[in-house]
Amino acid sequence: MTDCIFCKIANHEIPTTPVFENDKVIAFNDLNPQAPTHILVIPKQHVASVSDVKDLSVMQDLFDAIQQITTKNNIKDFRTVINTGSGAGQTVFHLHIHILAGRPLLWPPG
Ligand code: 5GP
Ligand code: ZN
Repeated sequence: MTDCIFCKIANHEIPTTPVFENDKVIAFNDLNPQAPTHILVIPKQHVASVSDVKDLSVMQDLFDAIQQITTKNNIKDFRTVINTGSGAGQTVFHLHIHILAGRPLLWPPG
C-alpha cells in the first residue's frame, strides 16, 4: 500500500535495521520505545489489523518470528500486544505485534 509507513519499512523504501527478516515477516525496533526492548513484528504484506486477517497463516508467520526473536535474544519474559482500532490505541493501520521486555510489566495494562 503506497501510503503505509510499515509497507515502506517492509520493502526497504525506508532504510531500517531489521531485528529479524524472512520472506514473509520483518521486525524492527520501535521509534518510540515503551520498554528497554520494544520490537515491532509485521507481515510484509499489507493487512490493516487483526480484524482484516483473512489467511491465518499470517498470524502463524508472525508468532514463528516472535519465537525466533525471543529465543535468539534470550528474552524469556515479555509481553506481546496487538492494538486493534484507534480506540484501543492503534495508530499505524498495518498489522503489527509489539514485543515489550526488559522492565516489570504491570497488569492490567492501561
Ligand atoms: P500502535 O499504536 O499502532 O499499536 O503502534 C504503532 C507503533 O509504531 C508505535 O509504538 C510507534 O512508536 C511506532 N512507529 C510509528 N512510526 C514508526 C516508524 O516510522 N518507525 C518505527 N520504527 N516505529 C514507528
Ligand atoms: Zn502497510
